[in-house]
Amino acid sequence: MARNNGNGTATLTRGGSSRLSSGTTKGKSGAGKKGKRVYFFGNGKAEGGAHLKDLLGGKGANLADMTTVPLPVPPGFTITTETCGEYNDAGQKLPRGLMEEVRKNVAKVERATKKKFGNPKNPLLVAARSGAKFSMPGMMDTVLNIGLNDKVVEGMAKLTGNERFAYDSYRRLINMFGDTVMGVDHHHFETELSAVKKDKGVELDTDLDTESLKEVVRRYKDVYKQHVGKPFPQDPFEQLEAAIEAVFKSWMGDRAIRYRELNDIRGLRGTAVNVQAMVFGNMGDDSATGVAFTRNPSTGEDEFYGEFLVNAQGEDVVAGIRTPLDCKTEMVKWSAKAWKELLKIKDVLEARYKDVQDFEFTIEKGKLYMLQTRNGKRTTAAAVKIAVDMTKERLIDRPTAVLRIDPQSLDQLLHPTFNPKAERTVIAKGLPASPGAAVGKIAFTAEEAEERVGKGEKIILVRRETEPADIGGMHVSEGILTSTGGMTSHAAVVARGMGTPCVAGAGSLHIDTEKKRLSVNGKNYGVDDWISLDGAIGEVYEGQVETQEASLTGAFKQIMEWADQYRTLKVRTNADTPNDAEVARNFGAEGIGLCRTEHMFFDVLRIHTMREMILASDTDGRRAALAKLLPYQKEDFVGIFRAMKGLPVTIRLLDPPLHEFLPHNDQDQVALARSLGVTPDQIRQRVQQLHEANPMLGHRGDRLAVTYPEILEMQVRAIIEAACEVKKEGVKVLPEIMIPLVGTKKELDYLKTYTDETAKAVMKEQGIKVDYLYGTMIEVPRAAVTADEIAETAEFFSFGTNDLTQMTFGYSRDDVNSFLPDYLKKEILERDPFQSIDVGGVGQLIRMAVERGRSVRQDLKCGICGEHGGDPKSVEFCHDVGLNYVSCSPFRVPIARLAAAHAAIKQEQQASAKKSRKK
Ligand code: ADP
Ligand code: MG
Ligand code: MG
Repeated sequence: MARNNGNGTATLTRGGSSRLSSGTTKGKSGAGKKGKRVYFFGNGKAEGGAHLKDLLGGKGANLADMTTVPLPVPPGFTITTETCGEYNDAGQKLPRGLMEEVRKNVAKVERATKKKFGNPKNPLLVAARSGAKFSMPGMMDTVLNIGLNDKVVEGMAKLTGNERFAYDSYRRLINMFGDTVMGVDHHHFETELSAVKKDKGVELDTDLDTESLKEVVRRYKDVYKQHVGKPFPQDPFEQLEAAIEAVFKSWMGDRAIRYRELNDIRGLRGTAVNVQAMVFGNMGDDSATGVAFTRNPSTGEDEFYGEFLVNAQGEDVVAGIRTPLDCKTEMVKWSAKAWKELLKIKDVLEARYKDVQDFEFTIEKGKLYMLQTRNGKRTTAAAVKIAVDMTKERLIDRPTAVLRIDPQSLDQLLHPTFNPKAERTVIAKGLPASPGAAVGKIAFTAEEAEERVGKGEKIILVRRETEPADIGGMHVSEGILTSTGGMTSHAAVVARGMGTPCVAGAGSLHIDTEKKRLSVNGKNYGVDDWISLDGAIGEVYEGQVETQEASLTGAFKQIMEWADQYRTLKVRTNADTPNDAEVARNFGAEGIGLCRTEHMFFDVLRIHTMREMILASDTDGRRAALAKLLPYQKEDFVGIFRAMKGLPVTIRLLDPPLHEFLPHNDQDQVALARSLGVTPDQIRQRVQQLHEANPMLGHRGDRLAVTYPEILEMQVRAIIEAACEVKKEGVKVLPEIMIPLVGTKKELDYLKTYTDETAKAVMKEQGIKVDYLYGTMIEVPRAAVTADEIAETAEFFSFGTNDLTQMTFGYSRDDVNSFLPDYLKKEILERDPFQSIDVGGVGQLIRMAVERGRSVRQDLKCGICGEHGGDPKSVEFCHDVGLNYVSCSPFRVPIARLAAAHAAIKQEQQASAKKSRKK
């Protein structure tokens, strides 16, 4: 796939299934109450639930669900994604009546918490949080501590007896509100904070005393006023309304739009807003905040995997300001009770959601609160192990386990790792944030990475920490390396999602982005230097470390075996050499669906003879050259037949136009003339003669064989001689001779005579019989339309979907990129039809051809070859239309096997759902 989709994540459902917008959602699951914009949750009850992800977003739906478990969730309410849609439809205006509904729900939160919003004596503070159906970096960050003002902060101080805490919360609010809601650049606040810290001679925020924090608040208010032009709002509802509006606005922000584009997320109405009572991880040393996974998202190991910070709030953990502690080893020392509670929550969450959870928690004065849970993003290796383990633990069944693995994401496992025997010099160690081996040259910014990858370089993106704006550069890089940030930092989370190797928090690195210099242990590295990363163990190496191929073992092997139990579609491979055939067999290929013979002619020795053949002036000359090519062809086929050990091998006869084999520049033409003993002019003339305006619609495919049957004869001879030879060795052979580009039955009949006669002659010479099939590619729409006639001669069909797409759309494969991007951007086409089968057009031709073909030949074998054979969506289509097999490149064989299993399981599930509905 041209679209680099190796970033398939296990948790993010892609395009197709997210098409429902909440506005149009119907049916019992997923629909909300008409006109209702706000859903309350609290004290064990919730108006929403886990089934309302379209309407409440993932975060809101799960907050509601956790509330009802019951898990300790601070009360709050969710404003629907539909409301965000209304807001944007109306030219970014909050719908009338919304704020009244919000006020009613704030009152409910007040009752649930026995606190009052804006009342200094017993103040309620709230958080405003964005949350779409899928977690989406690029949208507005959370604003905490809404409801604080000059009066309330004093009340908070008195009430908690903790003045420091109150002012710490207040300065956070002014900063977050100023930054994320009003767009005041964060560094203006940061500068003031640093100045105060310097004055007081302290290093950490936590070392600032109350008086200093009051000073910070004063300065922050000045910064705010200076940049916004108005003082910081003292009315809590004004704060809340502005925050809600900012969340809605961020849905259409550049970063959010770009993220949706990159991840093929379409058809959503907007983001929800979650407004929730605050709980405080910054109330002192008995308070903390953290994030955790119920299993290790890198390896899949069944172990608690999380980080926490004592006396901290909100995004301190993710932002990488202080280095968080590992829950598994440190939490027990801090609070045995909290640790025990977290372990219990791990089990409760997994039992309920039947999947790994990524959750956020805060501990306020020893009491634990849950702030979020969602299915955790994980590497493919982890996804596979978790699916297999959970099946063994009987949390899920086998079909569910198989469906959990995104076929596309297997790409990650089929990629190389470092050769354990390779020499390497470690220059730094960091956290193993996302596994895999990556080798590349250093780039210091995301833009630079994108630019250099565009020029064909391999890049490792090196940053102190990444941010959502870096997403494009991260996407194209081989690997990502950061010097700060933990296992749940932005870089780590995003890299795991993309399947890109990442080493995070390699603290010994000094990264100078301006000077484009990476220094470590007195050594400097720049943009021309290669480095290698092992994301599985967190090591950084100098230079290019040697990598090795992947293999199918352990949980991966298990899941593939399960997949094979469900699928009915066979998977073959496209292979032109014995080596490709071998690799594909190891990945489970059940035959060769396309062996292209022309590639064999491009070898230096052979191309010379090939050219001799093309330049020959008569049939005898051509026959003489072809006789020299015969042994080469035969040798290749012998190798392939041996490697496939009796599995079917479809061999396509010569396909490309002849001019592709001739040199086109002067120098090469002169050299060729000399070696063939002709004049350069003769060569030039022949090249000119072969020139065509539309070579892809020209003298190629079976049209060559019609003009020069001797080429076909040589190829058939090579195939049958090889088959006889291998059969004599005692190996079963099943050659399938395939004629390309057929448009009429007569072409096929004409060539069949030559084929059968040659085969018969060879078998007679060899004194042995081999069975072979004679079939055709369906690439020309006329062949699809007249498939019933064609099937009278053809014993099998193979859909060459690349050419069939080209001819059905009338888009030249070679030139399509001059306009296709516009079609995709303007959504005139939903996706590139050369990557994923155009079901509505090309797919209909395939369906028709299969039906018509089988109407005259019941057992007509049908398959596809071409890029589409390895595209999961296309594979599902092939299953549905009743093909016998798909054929794809060797490394995509496991992907196709899994996609075929998905298709079969889904079909089965749909059928049984239909049955039970009828009852
Ligand atoms: P994100 O989408 O970035 O995860 P969240 O809305 O989950 O944003 O909020 C980020 C962090 O803010 C949470 O991990 C939590 O620490 C803090 N937070 C959110 N809601 C509350 C709350 N009600 N009380 C205290 N902290 C909160
Ligand atoms: Mg966020
Ligand atoms: Mg969160």
